[in-house]
Amino acid sequence: MVVGVAVTFAALTTAAVACSWWVPRRALFEIGLGCWPLWRVPGGVALTFDDGPDPRFTPKLLDALRAFHTTVTFFVSTSLAVRHPSIVRRAHAEGHAIGCHAMTHTPLAFRSRETLHRQVSDAVRGLEDVLGDSVSLFRPPYGIRSPGLHRILRSEGLRPVYWSVMAFDWRVRSSKAIAERVLRGARPGAIVLLHDGGGDRSATVEAVPVVLDTLRGGGIPCVRLNGGERRDEFAMPA
Ligand SMILES: [Zn+2]
Repeated sequence: MVVGVAVTFAALTTAAVACSWWVPRRALFEIGLGCWPLWRVPGGVALTFDDGPDPRFTPKLLDALRAFHTTVTFFVSTSLAVRHPSIVRRAHAEGHAIGCHAMTHTPLAFRSRETLHRQVSDAVRGLEDVLGDSVSLFRPPYGIRSPGLHRILRSEGLRPVYWSVMAFDWRVRSSKAIAERVLRGARPGAIVLLHDGGGDRSATVEAVPVVLDTLRGGGIPCVRLNGGERRDEFAMPA
C-alpha cells in the first residue's frame, strides 16, 4: 500500500516536472494540453467580455466604451448573437473585435466530432453571417480545452484565446471589488476576462468606467485583439 502510494506520487511528480520543464509548454498548448499558460498581448491591456450579447447590459457597456474611445474584444455565444444581432453589429461597427464563444455555453473538451462541428464550425459560420465579416478568434466556454478542440480550431484557422487576469465578476457583486481585481492584474500585456452576459452584469458595467479611467491615468492603453498579431506575441506561454 505504502509502496503503491509512493510509486504513484513519484509518477505524478515526474509528469508534473516533465510538463513544466522538459516538454516545451508551447508545444503542449498547441495540441490543447499542458499547463495553464499565461498570455501576453502587445501594446497594452486587452479587456475581453464573454457570454453576451445581453440586451440589458451590452448596450450600456458599449455606451461606456464609446465615452472613453476604447475598443475591446467580445466573445459572443452565436445562439445569443442570432437572437440579438443588432447589438453584435453595433459592437462590430464601433470597432470592437468580435470572437466566437461557441454556439451555446457548453464545455468542449473530449466531445464528439459532431458536437465540436456544431459548437465551433457552425457557430463561427453563424456569427460571420450576423456580422457580415470573418471571425478568427475563439474562446472555449470555461476556457476548457483538449487536443480534439484545438485540432478543429487549427483546421478552421481559428486562434484560441484564453486570459491572464480574472475579475471573478460572475460571483463578485460589488463593482468596486471587480474594478480592484482588474486593476491589480492589469499590467501591459494582460488579457482580462470579464462578462457582459450570462447573469446580472450590472456591477461589471459599473466597474468598467472606473477601470478605464484608472488605466488612462496610469498611461496604460486598452487594446482589442484582432487576430493579426504575430503568433508569438499573441499566445506566449510565460
Ligand atoms: Zn463563458
